[in-house]
Amino acid sequence: MPKILIVGGGYAGFYTAWKLEKWLRSGEAEVTVVDPLPYMTYQPFLPEVAAGSIEPRHAVVGIRRHLKKTRVIAGKVTSVSHDSKTATITPVAGEPWEETYDQIVITAGAVSRTFPIPGVADEAIGLKTIEEATAIRDRILTNFDKAAQLPAGPERDRLLTVVVVGGGFAGIEVFAELRSFVTALLDSYPEIGFEDTHFHLIEAMGRIMPEVSLPTSLWVIKNLAERGAQVHLDTQLKSAVGGVIELSTGESFESDLIIWTAGVMATPDIKNYGLPIEERGRLRVRADLRVEGDDGIVEGAWGAGDVSAVPDLTGGGVGGFCVPNAQHAVRQGKLLAKNIVATLRGEGVRDYFHKNMGAVAGLGLGIGVFQSGKIALKGLPAWFAHRGYHGLAMPSWERKFRVIWGWVNNFFLGRDNVSLEARVEPRAAFEKWAARPRPAAPAVDAPAAQAAPAPAAAAPAEKEAPVLVGAPASAPAAEAVADAEAAPAKAPRTTKARAPKAAPTAE
Ligand SMILES: Cc1cc2nc3c(=O)[nH]c(=O)nc-3n(C[C@H](O)[C@H](O)[C@H](O)COP(=O)(O)OP(=O)(O)OC[C@H]3O[C@@H](n4cnc5c(N)ncnc54)[C@H](O)[C@@H]3O)c2cc1C
Repeated sequence: MPKILIVGGGYAGFYTAWKLEKWLRSGEAEVTVVDPLPYMTYQPFLPEVAAGSIEPRHAVVGIRRHLKKTRVIAGKVTSVSHDSKTATITPVAGEPWEETYDQIVITAGAVSRTFPIPGVADEAIGLKTIEEATAIRDRILTNFDKAAQLPAGPERDRLLTVVVVGGGFAGIEVFAELRSFVTALLDSYPEIGFEDTHFHLIEAMGRIMPEVSLPTSLWVIKNLAERGAQVHLDTQLKSAVGGVIELSTGESFESDLIIWTAGVMATPDIKNYGLPIEERGRLRVRADLRVEGDDGIVEGAWGAGDVSAVPDLTGGGVGGFCVPNAQHAVRQGKLLAKNIVATLRGEGVRDYFHKNMGAVAGLGLGIGVFQSGKIALKGLPAWFAHRGYHGLAMPSWERKFRVIWGWVNNFFLGRDNVSLEARVEPRAAFEKWAARPRPAAPAVDAPAAQAAPAPAAAAPAEKEAPVLVGAPASAPAAEAVADAEAAPAKAPRTTKARAPKAAPTAE
C-alpha cells in the first residue's frame, strides 16, 4: 500500500490528513502525520487566549481525536533523503529511525522571525504557540497582582507596561485584545488606575495592518489611542536589554512584557530535507502544490501552508506568492489531499486558486475591523463578523462548540482572570514540604560506634521517611512536616546512642 508521510500537523497538514481520510478508499494508502505537538493550533485565536477570552485548550484541536484513520507520530522529521524516499523521524522519546514513504507532504509551517536586536532573544516572547499566548495572559495577571502591592514608581510602571513589536495583523490583534483585557481587569484591582497602565506598539513602517485599507488602518490607530494605547509608526526597536526599551526616536521606557510579532519565516528544519528552497527559505512548489526544482517537478514531494512559496494565480499576494495565512493553508491542505488522491489514481492534478476573501480582526470585546475589497466594517458589527467567522472556521463541531460555549459563558460570567503562572513550577509546593531521607550519618570514631547499638546507628536514613507517611492519624500533618524539616538538624545527634529515639520523627 502506498505510504503518505505528512510533516507537520498544523493547519495545512491537519486538513490534508483529514481530507485524505475522507477521500481515500479503504486500503488505498496509509497516511502518517508527524508533529512534535499532539494538536494543531488555531493561531487566529491566540490573541484572545492571551486576553483570557478563550481557554487555551479550546483553541487547539487534538490530532489523535480527530484523525481516527491516520497514524500519528509525536516527533519531528529531522532530515529527508528524497532519492531513497526515506525520512529521519526523531520522536519526542526514544531513538530516531528511518521511515520510508511514497509521497511526502511538507507542511511544517513557520516560526517567529526576529532580527539581531540586543535583548530581544532574551527578553521578548513570540505569539505563534498556545504556550506563548497562555504565558502572556498569566504574565499580565501576575504583574497586576504584583503591581497592586507596590507604590507608584519605576518598578510598578515596568510591570504595567506592555510592548508589542510589529503592527501586522497578529501584532495589532494582540495589542488591542490585551488593552481590552487590562481595562476589564481594573475592576478587580482598585489599587491600579487606568492611567497607570501603558501600551506601546512599535512599527517600523509608516502604517499598520497592510491587509486592510489605509482609512481602516487609521481608524484602528485612532480607536487604540482613544483606549490609551499608543502606536509608534516609523519607529524601530533599538534595544530591549534588561527590559529597557530603546526606540529609534530616542524614547526609552521599561517593560516586563515585550511581545514580538514582527514577521514569520519558514520552519528552518526544511533546510535539512534536500528539497528545493527559494531565496526566502521557503519550499519551492508549483501552483498544483508539487515541489519543483531547477530540473522540473520532484515526483512524490508536495508542500503547502506557510512553509511553502505557493504561486498566487489570482495576481494578488506578495511577490506573486500566497501570503502566509490560514485562509490559504486550509484550502491548500484540502487541494493537496485531492491532488494526491488523483495522482494515486492516475488522474490529473489541479492548480491552487483562491481569491482573498478579505480580512477580519478582533480588537478587544465589542470592537473589530473587517475589510473585503472596498467594503469595510468597524466596531461592533466587525467584531460580530470576527467571532462569527472564526467560531465557525474552527475545525470540527466538538471544537466549535467549546469555543462558542466559552464565549457565551464569558458573556454572562466575565473572563476567568486568575493567573496560573505558578504552573511553570508545578512541583514547588510539593517539593517544599516533601519529607526527604536524612543525610547519611557521618562516620563516627571507633569507641562511640562500639557504645552505640549497632543496628540503630546503621539504620539507613531511607527507612525513616515512611514513618512520616504512616504518622498516626492523630498527628496533625503540619506537625509531621515541621518535624521533617527539623530532621536534618537533629540528624548528627543520632550518631550517638540516642539514634533510636530520634528515628520516629513524627512522634
Ligand atoms: C497570532 C496569529 C494570528 C493569526 N490570525 C490569522 C487570521 O486571522 N487569519 C488567517 O488567515 N491567518 C491567521 N494567522 C496565520 C495562520 O495561523 C497561519 O498562516 C497558519 O497557521 C499556517 O498553517 P501551516 O499549516 O502552514 O502552519 P502551522 O499551523 O504553524 O503548522 C505547522 C506544524 O508543523 C509542525 N512542525 C514544525 N516543524 C516540524 C518538523 N520538523 N517535523 C514535524 N512537524 C513539524 C509544527 O509543530 C506545527 O504543528 C495568524 C497567525 C498568528 C500567529
